[in-house]
Amino acid sequence: MPVYSYRCSCGAVKDQYSRVSERDSNIPTCHGPMTRQLSVAFIGVQANIHAISPIDGTPLTSRRQRAEYMKRNSLEDAVPAAETIRNAKARKAENERLAAQIPKLPEHVVRQLQAQA
Ligand SMILES: [Zn+2]
Repeated sequence: MPVYSYRCSCGAVKDQYSRVSERDSNIPTCHGPMTRQLSVAFIGVQANIHAISPIDGTPLTSRRQRAEYMKRNSLEDAVPAAETIRNAKARKAENERLAAQIPKLPEHVVRQLQAQA
């Protein structure tokens, strides 16, 4: 059985195991019924099951099955954090390189402009 995560309007979060068919009827209450939220990560459960889909509770037992499941449901992995950081650093370095090429005004002109401002 997959784990579902529920949130109350007060901010309280509760995780509970539930049958897929009961995920929207077997709802915990806090200040009223809680709202089901998607789990961010796939939850590993046992050695022979790598993950359980947070979407419908399908157990995923191999990389290949996971890849097929993701394709079938039009899912994509998020861009890995390392790649995002690498791209941001490359953009920053390029911006700094371009900024260094902008000609600088002579110091006395800068002072004159500041005095007039
Ligand atoms: Zn509450």
